[in-house]
Amino acid sequence: MALGVESACINHLSIEATHRCKQCGKPVCGACVVPAPTGNFCSEHCRDSYQQFAERAEELERNAPKPKRMWRFRRFILRLTIVVAVVALVVVLATYMGFDVPIVGEFVKQILIAGSD
Ligand SMILES: [Zn+2]
Ligand SMILES: [Zn+2]
Repeated sequence: MALGVESACINHLSIEATHRCKQCGKPVCGACVVPAPTGNFCSEHCRDSYQQFAERAEELERNAPKPKRMWRFRRFILRLTIVVAVVALVVVLATYMGFDVPIVGEFVKQILIAGSD
C-alpha cells in the first residue's frame, strides 16, 4: 500500500517506507510496522500511546452532552416558539376584531392604540 510516504524507513535507511506511524508520523517499512486494530505504528510504545489517547477521547465523548438530547431540546424550543407566535397572533387578531381577551387583550389594546397614533 503506497501512502505517498516518499521517505526511508526510520530503522532501514535503504528501504523505502510503506507505512506512517499513526501516533508520531514517522515512516516505517513493512518489516518494522506494528499493526494494530487502531492503525499502523512505528513501535509498541506509539501503539500504546495512541490506544491511551483513543480511550481518553472515547471517555470524553461519553461524558459530553448527548447530541440527540440537544436536538430534542432545540425542537422543543422551536415548537414552543411557534405555539407562542400562533397564540400571540390569535390574541392580536381577536382583540383587533373587537373580542375581549382577558389579561393579554388589555395589553394588546394598549399596543394597538399606541400604534394608531
Ligand atoms: Zn511512532
Ligand atoms: Zn524498517
